Amino acid sequence: MIRLEGLTKAYGSFVAVDHIDLDVPAGQLFGFLGPNGAGKTTTLRIIAGILRPTAGRVWIGGDDVIANPMSAKARLGFIPDRPFVYEKLTGGEFLRFVAGLYGQDGAGVEQRIDELLELFELAVWKDELVESYSHGMRQKLIISSALIHRPECIVVDEPMVGLDPKAARLLKEIFRHFVDRGGTVLMSTHTLEVAEAMCDQIAIIQHGKIVARGTMDELRRQTESGDISLEDLFLRLTGGAAARELARILEGP
Ligand code: ATP
Repeated sequence: MIRLEGLTKAYGSFVAVDHIDLDVPAGQLFGFLGPNGAGKTTTLRIIAGILRPTAGRVWIGGDDVIANPMSAKARLGFIPDRPFVYEKLTGGEFLRFVAGLYGQDGAGVEQRIDELLELFELAVWKDELVESYSHGMRQKLIISSALIHRPECIVVDEPMVGLDPKAARLLKEIFRHFVDRGGTVLMSTHTLEVAEAMCDQIAIIQHGKIVARGTMDELRRQTESGDISLEDLFLRLTGGAAARELARILEGP
């Protein structure tokens, strides 16, 4: 459903994404796992058509994001890590505005807005200004806005950050329901636990390169047939091993 070929992004002389090839199959919840600064956000922003790659190509359901941006973007719902919302619109107005960007309006959209607000327990806030929403409520509104045009795939950057346990669970259920009906979710995260709990397949990215990919079981087998567990590999990548060493030193003899 999402295909990356030789995807590369350089900021000046610094290469943030380095020749990534990746196939995200339809009907899967795919995790893009990596430590801070690994290149996850850069990759997702290129897929969403917000950043231009330095080299390489991206297809969404057969549409090239650069050659056919309108049809590629119509298939996609993007949930950024730092979303922008218009403070002076109400929740309902914001969703109507986003639907309009996708060329949708009328009774169907009004019904969809009400369904989504109901689902995320925002219905009573529909006519309140976004400026009065809490962080979690804004997050839920953004997720609703990514679903408003019934996309085939969702690309989401660190979705669990800032959600309370109930909203996090709801989001997990929504993503699972979405992929069970043939949708595709590509989700970035920097925590192994989130990837483990939610994803069918995972690609691990470090320094802009994919260093491992597969199901959680396949990754475990790949790493443990060497002399390091997946947890230890990921801790090494994320610097957790250094933190444990620091804790040991602080504990003293
Ligand atoms: P995090 O988990 O911390 O969000 P990430 O994996 O999403 O990290 P990116 O935001 O893609 O990582 O950043 C990858 C690298 O590219 C980082 O070293 C970052 O400093 C660098 N980078 C990102 N955006 C720019 C930019 N506009 N100009 C220069 N360097 C950038």
